[in-house]
Amino acid sequence: MATQSLYRRYRPRRFSELKGQDHVVRALRTSVAEGRSGQAYLFSGPRGTGKTSSARILAKVLNCTNPDGGEPCCECESCLAVERGTSYDVHELDAASNNGVDAMRDLIDKASLGTPGRHKVYILDEVHMLTKPAEAALLKTLEEPPPHVVFVLATTDPQKMSDTIRSRTQHLQFHLFTADDLDAHVRWVAEDAGLDVSDSAIEQVVNRGAGSARDALSALELVANSGGDGAETVPLDEFVESMIEQDAGRALSMVAGAISLGHDPRTLTEELIGYLRNGFLSIMAPDLVQLPSQRVDELSELARRLGAAGLVRGIEQLGSALTEMRQAPDPRVLLDVAIVHLTMERADTDISALVTRIAKLERQLADGVPAAAQAAPVDPGTGRATLGGRARRTEAPAAPSSPTGGTANAAE
Ligand SMILES: [Zn+2]
Repeated sequence: MATQSLYRRYRPRRFSELKGQDHVVRALRTSVAEGRSGQAYLFSGPRGTGKTSSARILAKVLNCTNPDGGEPCCECESCLAVERGTSYDVHELDAASNNGVDAMRDLIDKASLGTPGRHKVYILDEVHMLTKPAEAALLKTLEEPPPHVVFVLATTDPQKMSDTIRSRTQHLQFHLFTADDLDAHVRWVAEDAGLDVSDSAIEQVVNRGAGSARDALSALELVANSGGDGAETVPLDEFVESMIEQDAGRALSMVAGAISLGHDPRTLTEELIGYLRNGFLSIMAPDLVQLPSQRVDELSELARRLGAAGLVRGIEQLGSALTEMRQAPDPRVLLDVAIVHLTMERADTDISALVTRIAKLERQLADGVPAAAQAAPVDPGTGRATLGGRARRTEAPAAPSSPTGGTANAAE
């Protein structure tokens, strides 16, 4: 594999190659094609969503000798120089490390000087990190920029920008990739780069990416470098199965296996919490799950079998374990203890364990009725649990609709 990182190698070179940001692409291409591009832009959005790439494409097309329909040709000397990072027309500044007023004054002094191309483009990254005096100096220039100068301000945190700066710029917001878009992008890159990566490894990569193309491609690179079969993938489904089956041995073996593969207990705990959270969302709000839609169906099936109360209990127990791990010399012990609590509910008498058991009993009582995701609602007429859509005369106790007091200490 080439030494160049996948993210750099598959950086979009044209607006049409920029995935998942259609609204931004449309706005920029149209304004450039119609010759009414602005002089100051604010690109905001999470890291790895294409802000800097878009700024460079904009810089390219504004200086391209042969632009077409708002796109750069990517072949002329100017386009190639921008791609190599050697163009005299494009200046990138990381505001996080050059945040003082001197760096800004220096930039402004040079901005008024001529440039070989048609436009002098300044790309200021992490612009919310500028000091107040530096921001004030920038604002003065934004109010009356030299006619050939274009500013692109990029930030992950637009709330930290002053209203005046925001009002002087055209603000374009970049969004996280949806899981389906990211899945498609990762698969395309893997195929184009000739990487042999298994489906489960792709899923793990998309998960780790959490909506960011950059993070997903870094994860893909790690997986590809370690064989591509996702051998180090942790079977998180199996963990949920062991909670359903109340099989402590199986759950502890899964943890031991993951740790022997080099997973650190904290990261593993975070992954388990994330998985349970996705399971909970797959029942309550499937649109919010960061997984490809087919996986959401599989996960929601598993999550329904465990039940909402069990999922919440798992998130709470592992969450407290994670908090305590910050001070613990041996975090694995805390993870093991939390897992024993979750897979040996009979040994547990705290209220959330009881609620989970009641909910399970209710599901068993409701013969032939698909397992309810939530504890059964109470029929106001009879004061009894409503099972299968109608009130029955049963001895089933009415369970509260959500577990309370479930802050059991995982290390007790
Ligand atoms: Zn060109």
